[in-house]
Amino acid sequence: MRSESPPYRLMAPGPVAVPEKVLKALSLPMIHHRTPEFSEILLRVLSRLKQVFQTTHPVMIQTAAGSGGMESALVNTLSPGDEALFIVSGKFGERWANMGRAYGLKVHTLDVEWGQAVKVEEVARALSLHANIKAVFTQACETSTATLHPIKQLGEVVGSHSDCLFIVDAITAVGATPYAMDDWNIDVTVAGSQKAFMLPAGLAFIALSPKAWSFYEKSRLPKFYFDLKKELEANKKGETHFSSAVSLIRALDVVMDDLTGKNLHRQVARCQALSDATRAALKEMNLETFSSAPSPTVTAVKVPDGIDGAKWLRLMEEKYRITVIGGQDHLKGKILRIGHLGYITDEDMIATLEALGHGLQELAPELLREDQIEKALHVATLALKAAPL
Ligand SMILES: *Cc1c(COP(=O)(O)O)cnc(C)c1O
Repeated sequence: MRSESPPYRLMAPGPVAVPEKVLKALSLPMIHHRTPEFSEILLRVLSRLKQVFQTTHPVMIQTAAGSGGMESALVNTLSPGDEALFIVSGKFGERWANMGRAYGLKVHTLDVEWGQAVKVEEVARALSLHANIKAVFTQACETSTATLHPIKQLGEVVGSHSDCLFIVDAITAVGATPYAMDDWNIDVTVAGSQKAFMLPAGLAFIALSPKAWSFYEKSRLPKFYFDLKKELEANKKGETHFSSAVSLIRALDVVMDDLTGKNLHRQVARCQALSDATRAALKEMNLETFSSAPSPTVTAVKVPDGIDGAKWLRLMEEKYRITVIGGQDHLKGKILRIGHLGYITDEDMIATLEALGHGLQELAPELLREDQIEKALHVATLALKAAPL
């Protein structure tokens, strides 16, 4: 029985499949975090994270889910009652706005239809309408709708306001799409281990520009565990402020080879190729993508009318042993989301598209012919040749 079931494939947009070498690093014997051996690893990783973020400013590591990094960005820069603009184009934007409310900020939201990218002019308009806005918060990629926002252009607009920070949740962007923190006027970048960094969940990464650090000095929101100045001071001594997540940081050290230097470009190209292959295959199967500004890191497939999206997902999971995920809130049952981050081989991608097609065929044979699926897999295979693993 066992030999007949296909291998399990994790194809969600986070957490993602991790490479074998990461699993090996995670299983190494424990060492203490206050040792020269660990210090050396930590300092190397911290320095290389700057390359991934494309910043000359320090990047810090926090032991937390990505949302911890989002919270850290907020409490280290602002004060109670401060006005802030949150771009809300899906679940993660909602989460940040709710955090702002929880901390007593005066929250303005720019609500964007789910599946659309924010319009730069609307952000400019909001900033001129509310002169006291101290920070603009946005996702680079809104993972819940698989949409990429125009971060570079937004950086130009927000950067022209000297008293306003541009704070970006780049958890499904940095390390997998073009992203240049310093050149794009980004003041705070947040990332997380279980997405582009090909690790299990547990680490958040955060970097602040000098402008953001000047906000830190004035910021009065309560902070203790997430106090970034304390973290930075500890980092200067080759330590983290609290106990280090030694296993994850050692694994991160291994992954850094794939995310720095020339390999960063390879990684970005690979992600693009996976998404191009997916979209080309969907087209052949007469399936539509949900987002009008699709991110290279995740593709949202529209569930055709009359099809039970939950059933489709269950088929993928149980029969084909492939995890993709559905939509949230009003998109529940309406979209399926396929991730392009992490360690994905050509076989993983093709098997996913095949399962998607055959799953749909099983639910509605009239919607899809076998030759359409074959053509879809063929075009996807060609697209993947553009950027081999
Ligand atoms: C995954 C993700 C997060 C963080 O989620 P956690 O569950 O807190 O790790 C935040 N923002 C975006 C855009 C994400 O994709």
